[in-house]
Amino acid sequence: MTRPLSELRGPVRALFSDIDGTMTTGDRIEAETYQVLERLGEAGVPLVMVTGRPAGFAHAFMKMTPVLACVSENGGVTFVREGRKLTKLYGVPQQSIPEWRRRMFDAVALCQKSVPGARLSTDSKYREVDLALDWNEEFSLTRDEAETCAEIIRKAGFTAVRSSVHVNFGPPHFDKLSAAMMVVRQVLGGDANDLSPYIYVGDALNDAPMFNGFPKSVGVANVKAWWDELAFKPAYLTEHAEGAGLRELVAHILANR
Ligand SMILES: [Mg+2]
Repeated sequence: MTRPLSELRGPVRALFSDIDGTMTTGDRIEAETYQVLERLGEAGVPLVMVTGRPAGFAHAFMKMTPVLACVSENGGVTFVREGRKLTKLYGVPQQSIPEWRRRMFDAVALCQKSVPGARLSTDSKYREVDLALDWNEEFSLTRDEAETCAEIIRKAGFTAVRSSVHVNFGPPHFDKLSAAMMVVRQVLGGDANDLSPYIYVGDALNDAPMFNGFPKSVGVANVKAWWDELAFKPAYLTEHAEGAGLRELVAHILANR
């Protein structure tokens, strides 16, 4: 049963947040949103970004924002800090990546036979492990066409998840949750089997493993667009959508400390 955010209680050791549709509002991180995230950090609650976006994005976020760690490619590549250095943790053994990649490009060709408009996202160039088909960002496919591609890719032996803009796919050995658990263990020094001190906030289908794994999972209101397709629903729901929903959550965390 999903409850209103106002019922969320208890201390918060870190906030894990999705980026697209959660931190962004209409594709932009608003100044106000960035500000409340800084305020959260100053209050001693670290931020971990968790996204389907490429490793290249995560590298930039780690260099330019006070984020503690960044899970990218839906768990394929996770950046953590070791002193001044950034370290990458991969969701699959690094030496297996070229072979996975070869098979993934074959799967893209298969999709294009059934859905001629299927195209790799322009950000696929900056991905190290996973790839993404663009269904709703620079190109547009119907939801059915996007699902058809996801099905073809799954049949070829990969995990495929649809975010609000892409169908992300990759080796079936990681997801946002497995990577977040790694961050809890290796960066936060916590127990990966007890995620109750942490909050996860997201908005789309690729957040389902997180909604399932985090007892304090939160959906920003725009998650309702995919509600019936969500295999696992968030435990709490904000009143506001996108960045305004995230700001509502941060205000709630700060008020309830
Ligand atoms: Mg999202």
